[in-house]
Amino acid sequence: MPVEIVMNHATFRKAWRFDAFVEACAAAGMRRVSIWGNEVAEIGLDAARSRLRDSGMRAFGYNRAGPLLADTPEKRQSLMAAAKAEIETAAELGADHILLFPGGIADGAKGLEAARSQTTDACAILNEHARNCGIALALEPLHPMLAGDRTALCTLAEANRLCDRLGSNAGIVIDSYHVWWDAELEAQTALAGSSGRILGFHVNDWLVPTRHLLTDRGMMGDGVIDLAAMWAMVLGAGYDGPIEVEIFSEHWWAQDPDAVLALALGRCAEIFSGEAAR
Ligand code: ZN
Repeated sequence: MPVEIVMNHATFRKAWRFDAFVEACAAAGMRRVSIWGNEVAEIGLDAARSRLRDSGMRAFGYNRAGPLLADTPEKRQSLMAAAKAEIETAAELGADHILLFPGGIADGAKGLEAARSQTTDACAILNEHARNCGIALALEPLHPMLAGDRTALCTLAEANRLCDRLGSNAGIVIDSYHVWWDAELEAQTALAGSSGRILGFHVNDWLVPTRHLLTDRGMMGDGVIDLAAMWAMVLGAGYDGPIEVEIFSEHWWAQDPDAVLALALGRCAEIFSGEAAR
């Protein structure tokens, strides 16, 4: 069985709007796409649902529930209301999971203690809401260089511990860009897999040097991540879902999107269809 590949719309963010993205993925023979709430908002929920249905596509990942952290209870409450609304939209579109995005530390905060406890509290509420809506909540640990402005959840070990606290319905998305450096990668991947909580596997590459932490991700094969080894770990942990291509890159955003799509599919075939993927 060939590995199922899913494209994340972020990979084509500057070239294709929702319709063009979904159509291109369908034309390339894919069955699922990972989508963004801002794109859905732009065309409206009903139109987004129709476009998916008419092209025979389903939503896999939905980005995102968050940001959540703020310096006052009022602001936090309003952010939580917005996150709950995103969960409802994701569920209405039939997405497999919604990505949690805690966001940067609150104004004036020092250290990560408050961010961690606010994230934990928010996750408990949002996971309950997601469970009621019938959609999984995906925790995605991000690279620790992003702890100040993106999330305080930076390792698979923390994500596993948080999932233990949250109970069913919460899971983890493993993104190669964010966790490839972790000495505990294999053990924590296995732990996540043994609990049946790996919801997705995002691929891209770490370029050396990296010129920008958010917008200089590499095409698979262009950087230093041993993606085939990571895929073997994820498969070995029992994951049976698709591989999702998610490349935030000014370089690739500036290229012809059809060529980027073809190249990404070619690289996936080269890297992930080897011994480990069989
Ligand atoms: Zn990701």
